Amino acid sequence: MQNRVYYIEGDGVGPEIWSAARPIINAAVEKSYADGRTIEWVELLAGEKAMQEQGEYLPEATLTALGQARFAMKGPLTTPVGSGFRSLNVTMRQSLDLYACIRPVRYFQGIASPVKHPERVDMVIFRENTEDVYAGIEWESGSDEVKKLIAFLRETMGVALDATCGVGIKPMTPKGSKRLVRRAIRFALDQGRKSVTLVHKGNIMKYTEGAFRKWGYELAADEFGDVTFGEGEAQEGRPLEIRDRIADAMFQEVLMRPEQYDVIATTNLNGDYLSDALAAQVGGLGLAPGVNMGDTLALFEPTHGTAPTIAGKDMANPGSLILSGAMLLDHMGWYEAGERIRKAVETVITQKQVTVDLAGQIPGATRISCSAFGDLVG
Ligand code: NAD
Repeated sequence: MQNRVYYIEGDGVGPEIWSAARPIINAAVEKSYADGRTIEWVELLAGEKAMQEQGEYLPEATLTALGQARFAMKGPLTTPVGSGFRSLNVTMRQSLDLYACIRPVRYFQGIASPVKHPERVDMVIFRENTEDVYAGIEWESGSDEVKKLIAFLRETMGVALDATCGVGIKPMTPKGSKRLVRRAIRFALDQGRKSVTLVHKGNIMKYTEGAFRKWGYELAADEFGDVTFGEGEAQEGRPLEIRDRIADAMFQEVLMRPEQYDVIATTNLNGDYLSDALAAQVGGLGLAPGVNMGDTLALFEPTHGTAPTIAGKDMANPGSLILSGAMLLDHMGWYEAGERIRKAVETVITQKQVTVDLAGQIPGATRISCSAFGDLVG
């Protein structure tokens, strides 16, 4: 049985949310199974702790261990301020090729929401994590590099750009799009979900966003033709519908008809916007878990950052890390333990015992500490 989970404590509120979350994950496993199984936690260093102990923010040994691992969890990491310093998170995602960012979005009863029926939201977003304008290939207005590029485009491609442009490049490949859609379809089939919606802006950006849609449908037909059907097609016993929506229309749809959407597969930038909008629709980032996945490694993490203003004060909401732990257990195939955690979080929130970030949103709520929230859930 594979039970080793590497973990990175993280900066800011990282250590305190871990202190709350790890005992809950361990207890859920212990209570769910009679076979004595446990998680073998192995710590890896990154962020400020790594800097203090080893003199660098992201030691090679951490990347090497993660490169050979299947399961890992991390707390949030500070991006040290200073020109040219790349985000540790982005570095990890790119160097470990964690190409799918997966974020489930669901409502917990009792949380205040800006919409009338937040309980109708139950979606899982698969966001491509390595390509698109997010790859960061861009040149500043007026720089020598951009002048060269503008000249090349004018002279060789017949494209006349304004000489003062800053320019960014939006690379998208069949491989990058298809592996993301493949993962979304496999997940939807495994979980008995009804549809996968490809979200794109292909009406305008035909050879990138439009290509994502085309490659997505091709992949579905080539690899899952016997178990998927298109919108408007006869189902004929096939369990999963594949459809697509243009991104702007999708923002309306998730507000007006959220119950009609299930698994979403989308490009990097669309996914970035859509996952925050959907998290807000169900009450904010405090309970939003996530994972970055490659072909072997799944690295689970809360969606929020290090929350420096409340760090060290036992005030942070550990919910996002706790729910990331539930996702990890599902991914390990230990579904009963994952479900036990989600039910326990739901129960505590229904009793209106919540941390500072949620207390203000819930009328009549009692504000409790990070550690007290952990004790109640566990
Ligand atoms: P943040 O998510 O840390 O904080 C945004 C707001 O949400 C703050 O008001 C904060 O107090 C609150 N908040 C966040 N998490 C909370 C929790 N668990 N409980 C209660 N309140 C919480 O975002 P930021 O301030 O933009 O970033 C701070 C640092 O975190 C930066 O260095 C940034 O680079 C880093 N960051 C890391 C990750 C990651 O590791 N995946 C993600 C986002 C930001």
